[in-house]
Amino acid sequence: MALDERMEAALNDQVTCELDASLAYLQMAAHLDGDDRPGMAHWMYEQSHEEAGHAKQFIEFVLARGGRVEIGRIQTPVSKFDDPVHVFEEALRHEQHVTGRIRDIYRLATSIDDLESLPFLHGFLAEQVEEEAAVGGICERLRRVQGDEVGLALIDHELGSRGGE
Ligand code: MG
Repeated sequence: MALDERMEAALNDQVTCELDASLAYLQMAAHLDGDDRPGMAHWMYEQSHEEAGHAKQFIEFVLARGGRVEIGRIQTPVSKFDDPVHVFEEALRHEQHVTGRIRDIYRLATSIDDLESLPFLHGFLAEQVEEEAAVGGICERLRRVQGDEVGLALIDHELGSRGGE
């Protein structure tokens, strides 16, 4: 089935949204790197890379459905953070925003009977559950150490072992 123009617009918005997230995480990674948190920075560089990959998946899907890709305006990312907890809480807020967007696209696809989009969107809904759990878990652990440098160093070391996608 040809791609409905409302779906094409929504999917294009999602490409922009994923690129926004990628840039926001790149900025966070740079902040953490400059703040001598190499493990957290590594984790965030990987996250940025993953979001760019999501954007590409949406691009490929639009093209596979015969649609046209048009990337929108990218937001200037937040660049000032109080501490690592603040960085990861911003990341969680981003993920929750992305989840809301994908749920909206899923509802649109359902309402216009675009069944072909549903399996693709399913994958992203499942992905968002994992993303929110991962980032939420890091926030919780960072809050628990209450700025203690030994605790922060342990978390930093652990996040540094994140593998690539
Ligand atoms: Mg994503």
